[in-house]
Amino acid sequence: MIPFHKPLVTGIEMNYLRQVIETNNQFSGDHTFTKKCSQWFQQNLSCPKVLLTPSCTHALEMAAILANIGPDDEVIMPSYTFVSTANAFVLRGAKIVFVDIRKDTMNIDEHLLEGAVTEKTKAIAVVHYAGVSCEMAAVLKIAEKYNLLVIEDAAQGLMSTYKGKALGTIGDLGCFSFHETKNYHCGEGGALLINRQDLIERAEIIREKGTNRSKFFRGHVDKYTWVDIGSSYLMSELNAAFLFAQLEAAKEVNKERLSLWEHYHERMSPLKNSGLIELPHIPEECLHNAHMFYIKLKDIDERTRLIDYLKKNGVGAVFHYIPLHSTEIGKSVGRFHGQDTFTTTESERLLRLPMFNGLNREEINTVVQSIRGFFNQG
Ligand SMILES: *Cc1c(COP(=O)(O)O)cnc(C)c1O
Repeated sequence: MIPFHKPLVTGIEMNYLRQVIETNNQFSGDHTFTKKCSQWFQQNLSCPKVLLTPSCTHALEMAAILANIGPDDEVIMPSYTFVSTANAFVLRGAKIVFVDIRKDTMNIDEHLLEGAVTEKTKAIAVVHYAGVSCEMAAVLKIAEKYNLLVIEDAAQGLMSTYKGKALGTIGDLGCFSFHETKNYHCGEGGALLINRQDLIERAEIIREKGTNRSKFFRGHVDKYTWVDIGSSYLMSELNAAFLFAQLEAAKEVNKERLSLWEHYHERMSPLKNSGLIELPHIPEECLHNAHMFYIKLKDIDERTRLIDYLKKNGVGAVFHYIPLHSTEIGKSVGRFHGQDTFTTTESERLLRLPMFNGLNREEINTVVQSIRGFFNQG
């Protein structure tokens, strides 16, 4: 059996957990390992401030508060994304304006953005699908023209870059996920990247239940008190210790993933050349992190049959994202701008194949062989 996913374990996690329990004896947020992780991000990604959060969902919620999103505001995003991208803004009372995706990357179509802007538009939330960057130069240009905030849902994007810049550090705010399904994880976890100096202080306050506790600890105020809205958006030190073990291994982990991805791509090419499947496209200015390997089938029916076939052959394959605009809640809190040319059709064709550290080339060959068998290309 080749599972769809196995969460990463480097082997060092236990040492750091033991250090927290036996030596450091501090378990809540913002202690030794939280600081180590934040520094790792700030140095390796060149970002002015990174705050660890309990999840990417929470980082997105913080971003929505920081962006001052309120009722009547509109936020532009793709419909092909995880629910949290939308929920974060819906929780503030905003209306969601869904924009179609590009067929080649499954990312928001930058050419359609400007047409979706109205007087009410406050922000653009881009999603870097599969760790492959959106066309950020175009996104930033429109954001600047209409004075909009850019929030990057880079949940899948750690270790990816766009024109040499780390994903999550390009817009005003960026959000990472360290859920166990992501390349680097701590069970549940996330981070908010704050790329603007003027948003840092308020971000710390929102994360500390709306108090100026961070300032107090730096000795900038002599008591701390309630100063703004907020919640408890801190990651536990236990999670940070686990996460740090994974960050330290990030370069090697990324290298292994990319080599597995390349192997898949090479082995799948004959099926692509026969016109039976489509393969992911990586634009020239993007370095990706091999978060996932997907193929595209003819339609939803063929995909369903292939999933069943692979299951019978011991291969786990999954799809995701029922387009948000097609759901009841999606219709009530948002609208689709223009034509849904690719969102629905492409989401129904996409199939994710096993991709995780520890997967080996023989297993990939087995997966490819099964798919060849399905197409009678044995
Ligand atoms: C995983 C994911 C999230 C949610 O991350 P959590 O850490 O589980 O909250 C949000 N957006 C995208 C695009 C994701 O892939």
